[in-house]
Amino acid sequence: MFTHLHVHSEYSLLDGMCRIPRLMSRAKELGMDSLAITDHGVMFGAIEFYLAAKEAGIKPIIGCEVYVAQDSRLSRDAGDKKNHHLILLAKNQKGYRNLIQLTTKAHLEGFYYKPRVDKELLQEYHQGLIALSGCIGGEIPGLVLGGHLDEAKQVALWYKKTFGDFYLEIQKHPIPELEQINQALIAISSELDIPLVATSDVHYVNREDASAHDLLLCIGTNSSIYDDKRMKMAGDFLYLKSPQEMAELYQDIPQAIENTERIAQMCNLKLEFGRFHLPEIELPGDKTADDFLAELCREGLQEYYPNPTSEIKERLDYELEVIKQTQFADYFLVVWDIISFAKKQNILFGVRGSAAASLVLHCLGITEIDPITYKLVFERFLNVERKEMPDVDLDFEDERRDEVISYVSQKYGQDHVAQIITFGTLGARAALRDVGRALAMSYGDVDRVARLVPWRPGVTLARALEENSELGNIYREDATIRNLVDSARRVEGIARHASTHAAGVVISKEPLTNQVPLQRASRAKYKRESS
Ligand SMILES: [Zn+2]
Ligand SMILES: [Zn+2]
Repeated sequence: MFTHLHVHSEYSLLDGMCRIPRLMSRAKELGMDSLAITDHGVMFGAIEFYLAAKEAGIKPIIGCEVYVAQDSRLSRDAGDKKNHHLILLAKNQKGYRNLIQLTTKAHLEGFYYKPRVDKELLQEYHQGLIALSGCIGGEIPGLVLGGHLDEAKQVALWYKKTFGDFYLEIQKHPIPELEQINQALIAISSELDIPLVATSDVHYVNREDASAHDLLLCIGTNSSIYDDKRMKMAGDFLYLKSPQEMAELYQDIPQAIENTERIAQMCNLKLEFGRFHLPEIELPGDKTADDFLAELCREGLQEYYPNPTSEIKERLDYELEVIKQTQFADYFLVVWDIISFAKKQNILFGVRGSAAASLVLHCLGITEIDPITYKLVFERFLNVERKEMPDVDLDFEDERRDEVISYVSQKYGQDHVAQIITFGTLGARAALRDVGRALAMSYGDVDRVARLVPWRPGVTLARALEENSELGNIYREDATIRNLVDSARRVEGIARHASTHAAGVVISKEPLTNQVPLQRASRAKYKRESS
């Protein structure tokens, strides 16, 4: 059966519009048994997609539409603004890890307008990956359009040689250039024995989403729908077409449909969850983490409880035993190490939540509360049955958080420490304001409506319409406002930009890129939704 191998989720920020749950339920509805995610230059949606697909009984194919630099990823001349699109799909763990390396290096080394890989990187990290030639923005289609057919063939041979599994993407959309491109690709395919594959460059789930998607593009490019020169998709065909629609479209080249199935069969990525990759601190002598933790606790015990009762001693032994069984000693030691640094530097810190229930943490000098006096139950914090990561919720004084983070990255290695990414979404007010701009409405008109949305986190336009009668009234009476609100509702909640999580720092045992892709923190271009 046909499989979509070229799909943009909302994580192709302000370009793709497929929200993963909706995408998955539609795929299921259409009877699909596998589906790919190929966002532009990033893997933001990979895990969410993987889990949602598994849940829906659909095979997840994790990929990315990477940007390939024209020349070196390190080159940043004016001409380097142009780049080529290329679809990569992970066949297995190796491919997935290589995709992580490629997207990370594209961000850290190749960023110039877009995160760019280059041929050197593709050569180095090709294993476990299948490559598809991409949309109109691909290197080979570009050469065909420019009339450089011979060069197009050379490039196709390079990709074939590099990846082994390389396919020429045939997209059938009513775009005039595609006719010339597809003819050439079919000719190259038979001449060089490179298989064809049918793709649809999905950007939204349903055909009706096309106009909302157009608004999203306007928001992304800061233009309005009346702007003729803006980036625009020429129609409403970038939706998730059914396997039947696809089969019909490709009647003349059925092998392009069959090959999607072949590719889907080749992709068998299994991701592992629930295993911890805890960092370790250096241990004195040949002590184990458990021994060292016990030793620190006994020292602390003397300090906090000069005459410990047997109840206290038993409690400490019990906690240490639970920590040993759950194998979290390293976690406690790392927290102890960070807190020791903060104390030495006189950086203020606080601990919130269930951590107060641990005598071990109290003895380590991490919490100030005596859990015995307050009769706090340790099992709320950590217990053998659940074996969940303990959570010591630490706050550091705002002005000096950076010192703690740089200590941690020095201590555990820069490539082992990163701040967590977070995604700002189009909230109710932001959706109104952004869509208003895209519809070329005046600031005053939009502002008047936006101010009627109750100011509280998580409020939706639907709720606002119910709660605010003034908003409800102008919505019913004024067609322009109604259009604004209805349009905004269709893009409401979509991821808008990536930024740095205010609190989360991750420290890993192995270099982070063994598990997750990285990128540089961008100063949020977009302030939190306000007024
Ligand atoms: Zn593309
Ligand atoms: Zn695409």
